[in-house]
Amino acid sequence: MALEDLLEQNKSWARERLADDPEFFKRHTSGQQPRVLWIGCSDSRVPAEQILACGPGELFIHRNVANIVAYNDVSLTSVLQYALEYLKIEDIVVCGHTMCGGVIAACAEVLPDGCVADWLMITRWAKRWVDQRLATEKTKPDEATYLRMVVEENVKLQVDHLTHLAVVRKSNKTNPGIPRLHGWVYDIASGRVDVVVNPGDVRIDP
Ligand SMILES: [Zn+2]
Repeated sequence: MALEDLLEQNKSWARERLADDPEFFKRHTSGQQPRVLWIGCSDSRVPAEQILACGPGELFIHRNVANIVAYNDVSLTSVLQYALEYLKIEDIVVCGHTMCGGVIAACAEVLPDGCVADWLMITRWAKRWVDQRLATEKTKPDEATYLRMVVEENVKLQVDHLTHLAVVRKSNKTNPGIPRLHGWVYDIASGRVDVVVNPGDVRIDP
């Protein structure tokens, strides 16, 4: 698809929004009050707003390969701080997805070369936890089930990482129970989201 097409699509999109609702864009000019911070995968098949039927202004979004929460990721921690301290967002969702290329690569015998391999070393821990659990079981899951298990474990791991981060702990100290941390998995084949971590399952570090 040529980029000119995208610019044309943008023009028609803006025109259609205005035709439906003349105040649509004006409403957003005074600021934003998103309901949720979404930490998702960069995968093009998992567009947060579309799968949740949200429009502009509803979700504050951070995406990277395999929806990873890394302690030393200044980009992510800045998004977190802005979300909690300035936008006063109370819910954070880490959303993984089935058929995640990042998780598949992290599960491979040999990781791909370069930055992506370094990055996926974090998700490789999720694979290790799943392998450890399976080591004691007699029957092994098929490949798709195994990948789904690692996808879920990866979401749990990244939610756990959030519980240790300074900005999250600070928020929970000032306002107990906030942020509420959620772990979800989006199924590419069905378009449905499953909940794998509820805020009640999570304990934020003091
Ligand atoms: Zn992915």
